[in-house]
Amino acid sequence: MTTENQYRRTLVTSALPYANGHIHLGHIAGAYLPADIYVRFKRQKGERVLYIGGSDEYGVPITLTALKEGVTPQDVIDRYHTANAAAFEKLGISYDIYGRTSWDLHNDTTQTFFKTLDAGGYIHQESMELWYSPKLEKFLPDRYVKGTCPKCGYTDANGDECESCGAQYAAQDLVAPRANIPGDDSSPVLRESRHWFLDLPKFSEALKAWLDMHPEWRANVKGIAYGWVNDLRSRCITRDTDWGVPIPVDDPDAKDKRIYVWFDAPIGYVTNTRQWGIDTHGDATAWEAWWKAKDTRLLHFIGKDNVPFHAVIFPAMLMGQGDYVLADHVVGNEYLNIFNRKTGQSEKGSKSRGNMISVKWALEKFAPDIIRYYLCTNAPESKDSDFDWDDFMLRYNGELCDVVGNFVHRSLTMTVKNFDSRVPEPGAFDAEDEAMLAAIPAQIDAIAEALENFRFRQALERFIDLGRKANVYFDTKAPWVSRKTDMERTATTLYVCCQIVNGLCHAMAPFLPNGAATLSTILGVTLPEGGPEGGEDGWNAGKQTLPAGSPLQTPTVLFPKIDPDYIAELAETHLRGEAS
Ligand SMILES: [Zn+2]
Repeated sequence: MTTENQYRRTLVTSALPYANGHIHLGHIAGAYLPADIYVRFKRQKGERVLYIGGSDEYGVPITLTALKEGVTPQDVIDRYHTANAAAFEKLGISYDIYGRTSWDLHNDTTQTFFKTLDAGGYIHQESMELWYSPKLEKFLPDRYVKGTCPKCGYTDANGDECESCGAQYAAQDLVAPRANIPGDDSSPVLRESRHWFLDLPKFSEALKAWLDMHPEWRANVKGIAYGWVNDLRSRCITRDTDWGVPIPVDDPDAKDKRIYVWFDAPIGYVTNTRQWGIDTHGDATAWEAWWKAKDTRLLHFIGKDNVPFHAVIFPAMLMGQGDYVLADHVVGNEYLNIFNRKTGQSEKGSKSRGNMISVKWALEKFAPDIIRYYLCTNAPESKDSDFDWDDFMLRYNGELCDVVGNFVHRSLTMTVKNFDSRVPEPGAFDAEDEAMLAAIPAQIDAIAEALENFRFRQALERFIDLGRKANVYFDTKAPWVSRKTDMERTATTLYVCCQIVNGLCHAMAPFLPNGAATLSTILGVTLPEGGPEGGEDGWNAGKQTLPAGSPLQTPTVLFPKIDPDYIAELAETHLRGEAS
C-alpha cells in the first residue's frame, strides 16, 4: 500500500474502446468519467498528471464488420475512431492524447514488447487445431465461425464463446460449425496451426506478491485478479488474420498471422504516451519517465470485463520488460445496466437488444454536465447500477438544480441587486456565520478525501451536502427579510453566501467542468488548467476568501431543469431502440 504523496507523477489510463461501434453510457460510467474526474482533480491541485486514451483498432470483429459492409477495415476504424474521439471531447473527457493502435509507432512498441518477452524465455510455440476453410484456403479465426454451443445448444454461438450462456471453449468443441463470412457458408475443417504463446505461469509468484501489496483495491477487482493468478495458463498471443501488428519473427509461418488484439491493446497506452512526448515536447524519450521512473504512480480505470487484462496479464507483460512500473491501483467498475420501465426489470445493455444509449445520442439531447452528473451519482462502483430515466430526472432536477443551482442563483442575484454587483463588506459574524464559514473548507477536504480514494459517488454526495448546508444557512438567515430592516446583517449573510459559492465553484470543477467555467467567470476567479507539468493549487483555492469588493457578473442559470415530458418522450425513443 502506498500514499500518493510519495509520487512525483500520476499516469492515468482509461481502457481503449474498440473502434467497431459507438461508445455508450455504460462505458462512460465504468472506465472514462471516473478517470476524468480524478485527472481533473489532480490537475486542479497542481500535481503532475498525464491522461492517456485512444482507440483499440485491431482484431477480428473489425475485419468481420468490414467484410459484412463491403468496406475496408481501415474505413471501419476511421469511422469509429473519429466518432468516439469527438464524443469524448464533447463530454469533456480530457485526455492528454487520444491515440490509435493502427499507428506505425504502435507496431514498434508492440514488437519491442514481444521481442523482449521472447528473449526472456516467456514466449513459446504450440500447435493447435483450428477451423480452416478449404474453399477460401485459409484459417478462420473464432468470429469467422458459428455453430452450436457445446454447453447449452444455442445454435448461433461464436467460434470461441457463446453469447447465450457465456461459455468459453476451444474451437474443436464447437458443434456443427459453419463459416460466418459473406461468400462462404461452407463447413470448415480442423487443421493444425502453429501459434505463439505467452507463458503466464512463469509470472505467477511475482504477480501474487504484487497483488498482496494492494489490500486497498476494491473487492471486485481483487476477487477476479486472485482467481486468475491462482489458475494461470499459457495464453495464445497470435491469430490467423492479416489485420493486426505483424509478428516480429523470421518464420514463414508468421506471414499470415498477426499479434492477438488483447496483447497489443494495453501496449497502446505506452505507444500513445510515446506519441504524446513527441507531439508536445518533440522528445522521443519523454514517455520513459512516465512508465519507468519509480516515482510514477500508474493507475488504470476499467470496466469489470477488463480486470484480468489490467490486474494480471498486462502487469505480467510489463514485468517481462524488466524496467516498467506496475499499476498502483486498478480501478475496476461494475456494469451500468438499463432499467426497462415497461417490464419493470433491470437488463444488461446489449447490441442485439438495442437498449444501449450511445454518448453521441445522449449529447444531442443533454448538456454534458447533466450526463456527467447522473453517471457519477449513479456510478457502478461496488455493484451494478441501473440507468433509469425517472431516477435521472429526479437526481438532476432534485439535487443539482434544486440544491446547488438554486442556492448559487438566489445568492448571487440578491448580491448583485443589493450590493452593486460586488461581494459585500461583512459586519460582525455570529455563530451561524462562523459555523458556515468553517464548513466550506471542511467539506472541500472531505470531497478531496473521497476522490483520493476513488469513491466518486461519495465525493459528489459531499459536494451536494455543501449545497444543502448552504440552503439551510440561507433560509435561516432569510436575507430577503433582513434586507428590509438591516442592511449590515444582509451584507454579512450574502458575504458568507459568496464564500460558499466560491467553494462550490472550485469543488464542482472536476465533476461539472462547464458549470464551473461559467461560475468562475461570474465570480471573476481563475481555475488553473494544470497538466503534465503541474502548476498552482487551484483546488485548495476554493477554501480561500473571495474578498469583499470583488466584482460579480449577473448570474445565469447554471443547471436548467429538465421537463418531465421531455424525459418521457426520450424514454419512449430509447425503448424503441433508437438511442444506440
Ligand atoms: Zn451456450
